[in-house]
Amino acid sequence: MFTQSPIAERLIASFRQLPGVGRKSAERYALHLLSMPPEIAVDFSEAVRIARERITRCPVCRNLTDITPCIICTDEQRDHSVICVVEQPTGAIAIEKGGTYKGLYHVLHGVLNPLEGIGPAELHLDLLLKRFEGGKAQELIVATNTTAEGEATALYLARRIGALGVKVSRIAHGVPMGGGVEYADAVTLAHALEGRSRI
Ligand SMILES: [Zn+2]
Repeated sequence: MFTQSPIAERLIASFRQLPGVGRKSAERYALHLLSMPPEIAVDFSEAVRIARERITRCPVCRNLTDITPCIICTDEQRDHSVICVVEQPTGAIAIEKGGTYKGLYHVLHGVLNPLEGIGPAELHLDLLLKRFEGGKAQELIVATNTTAEGEATALYLARRIGALGVKVSRIAHGVPMGGGVEYADAVTLAHALEGRSRI
């Protein structure tokens, strides 16, 4: 049986590392991959390898990019006076889909969580502060998720960055409580951005 093979087991274990993938799904993906023509399966693994090798975090906004600084940070058509903070790259993708936001982003790759040892240093918040201290940025929009940690992070940012004289606002309307920014639809997010309130 194929699951008794250590080679197949390694493939299944690899799929299980993905979010939301349990044992059964991992087995199904592994079997599917093995039923594909070999060149397509190899191309799949090459796509993973190349993406992992070439896509890094933008040194300015920490969003994922294959050019540094990223295409958004270097776009002169965008409004460099506004920075929207999101937890994950998926948040920025969701807001971009709305099509109305023309400012820049800053991706935290997490939220403050003292119980798990995630503080300002782990989130590299100094990089965000630096963008307001020396850069053109004058306004911060906090689009962290509406979980307890997301709210706590928003308040922390409002205090730290607000102390620099920066206008700090929080998106609110229409984003489901306890939910992720990436799960809100594009129109809801666009309204949430427009209806942000100062914190
Ligand atoms: Zn960038």
